Amino acid sequence: MDPPSNLGKEIALKSMNTLRLPSTARFFAEVTDEQALVKALNWADAQGLETLIVGGGSNLVLVADFDGLVIHLAIKGRQWENVSEDGATLVLGAGEHWHDVVLYVAGSGYRGIENLALIPGTCGAAPVQNIGAYGVELKDTLVSVKAWDCEQQKMIILDNAACQFAYRDSLFKRLPRRYLIVQIKLRLSRTLPLSLGYGDLMQYFSDLPDKAALTPLDVAEGVMAVRRRKLPDPEQIPNVGSFFKNPVVSMAEWEQLKAKFPDIAAYPGDSSVKLAAAWLIDQCGWKGYRNNKVGVHNHQALVLINHSNGTGKDILALAGRIRADVADVFGVELEIEPRIISG
Ligand SMILES: Cc1cc2nc3c(=O)[nH]c(=O)nc-3n(C[C@H](O)[C@H](O)[C@H](O)COP(=O)(O)OP(=O)(O)OC[C@H]3O[C@@H](n4cnc5c(N)ncnc54)[C@H](O)[C@@H]3O)c2cc1C
Repeated sequence: MDPPSNLGKEIALKSMNTLRLPSTARFFAEVTDEQALVKALNWADAQGLETLIVGGGSNLVLVADFDGLVIHLAIKGRQWENVSEDGATLVLGAGEHWHDVVLYVAGSGYRGIENLALIPGTCGAAPVQNIGAYGVELKDTLVSVKAWDCEQQKMIILDNAACQFAYRDSLFKRLPRRYLIVQIKLRLSRTLPLSLGYGDLMQYFSDLPDKAALTPLDVAEGVMAVRRRKLPDPEQIPNVGSFFKNPVVSMAEWEQLKAKFPDIAAYPGDSSVKLAAAWLIDQCGWKGYRNNKVGVHNHQALVLINHSNGTGKDILALAGRIRADVADVFGVELEIEPRIISG
């Protein structure tokens, strides 16, 4: 079986992950269409090699070299379908840059993903952890996903329910080796009310007398301004955004925690409560911590940073210390959000 046409060997991945962690891929191929993807997968299979899909590398922690084939998915494409007065469906190639798509959609007057502006990465990775921000999640607009199913060895379509979306979670995150997403389909609206009710965003627009005049692009720009104030730009300060998920606890656990820590920050739901992981970490004194390699951002305790030539092991060691402290003080387990690649 022929190898992929542009197969690279011993390729450094440092510039391809936003934590700038050192790691080498034994083999590397960029694919720009479905046929090339299937060919690369078949070749890896015949060689007995593991594969790893990398988009923008903004949710990966590379702890070791990868002794297999890394596939950079660069399948492009933006196709409008079913355009009506109310809205339209947009079909996107997995390699499309998510934030560019948000600006394109909001700039075209469509609503639904403007609150997800400035999230790095690709459209193909967006369903993996059901990206979310400022009260909106991808699942709110996603119609379906087209993916290569490594088990059935064919392309399949999964509708929204089949993707089993939850908070920063999906079928794809739970079975990372099974599905390779090549396309996503979103339903966008022309009439949906804009979602401005979330903390910082609400404050950003609080002085505006006529919120009804806001366009989706205004909201996307508001989100960008708020995010730029709070989150470090990975181009300047290597990071993967939130390193931990907000822990979800039962109402009973929440009552106990609140009795012991009256100021505890949380987002109450109907039957459970999401604790603010950043608050828990901050209370344990980690915000702004740094050693000679890695640290915690000084404005946002959820963000771990590679200050200077840190490795995946350095990042995981720091994460381990933070988790141990939070477990000790609050009895709460923090779950790591990005995918750890340990070889
Ligand atoms: C500064 C910053 C801010 C962020 N803010 C947010 C935020 O507000 N909300 C949020 O939810 N996330 C946020 N993130 C995390 C990250 O941007 C998202 O998870 C994003 O969707 C990852 O996209 P990517 O292309 O970089 O994925 P990668 O890091 O390349 O991959 C992530 C995982 O998805 C898999 N994957 C990638 N592409 C595919 C595909 N086509 N098919 C199947 N699997 C695939 C990979 O194998 C890996 O397991 C932030 C990250 C940073 C650096």
